[in-house]
Amino acid sequence: MTTRIHHLDCGTMHPLGAPGGRLMPRRMVAHCLLVERPEGLVLVDAGFGTGDLADKKRLGRPFLSLVRPDLAPEQTARAQVADLGFTVEDVTDVVLTHMDVDHAGGLGDFPHARIHVAAEEHRAAMDPATLLEKRRYIQGQWAHGPQWQLHEAGGDDWFGFSGVRALGDDVVLIPLRGHTRGHSGVAVRTPEGGWLLHAGDSYFWHGELERPPAYNYGLVGFQKLMAVHEKERRTNQERLRELRAGHPEVTIFSAHDETEFNHLA
Ligand SMILES: [Zn+2]
Repeated sequence: MTTRIHHLDCGTMHPLGAPGGRLMPRRMVAHCLLVERPEGLVLVDAGFGTGDLADKKRLGRPFLSLVRPDLAPEQTARAQVADLGFTVEDVTDVVLTHMDVDHAGGLGDFPHARIHVAAEEHRAAMDPATLLEKRRYIQGQWAHGPQWQLHEAGGDDWFGFSGVRALGDDVVLIPLRGHTRGHSGVAVRTPEGGWLLHAGDSYFWHGELERPPAYNYGLVGFQKLMAVHEKERRTNQERLRELRAGHPEVTIFSAHDETEFNHLA
């Protein structure tokens, strides 16, 4: 049972491009959830963490100069958990959509937590096969040796998707491969009985899920460049469009869309 859900931006970014045009959004967020359950707090995605702020270089020069994250101390999940009156130890579980630099940076700030991720994503991060994978995963972000809880794909039906229970019936991993090898959405049952679907990087900007979809063209290029399975990425986007159209009880949001974040936070 979830009792309360907080929306946190754990890393505002200012991607290089033509702000205000149709190339790139002006700002992107790192949308994370802090879910209150009687058993403990669950963090969905970890944004940038204090380890990234202390050692910006580990994020890599291309990322820093293209994506331009603020890396503000008050935006780390650790700082926001404290602001809400909780301790780091209250966070018992972290569930990751994937292990890219802007999603896994905060792991080191919750060294006692169990870290849930799709087994396929963990394999990709631990044993990157291509140059793209070698660059996107920052080994230092999990150098502290987290307590991994790996989830194999398969599982129950969740609105026509296969869902893998991460934490009981309330927090479910939804395989949405494409952006990375084991990329997943994270569905969280709300206290009101509906669902939030953190769609991670399945799409980046709200227009992409509209019918007909609207695009920022620079951002589309970026997503193609970063995708491990481009065809599956596009197929999964279309499945999310169908889900949104057919199931108003499911609120879908991207990890990076500022408009959706402002609407929900
Ligand atoms: Zn991302």
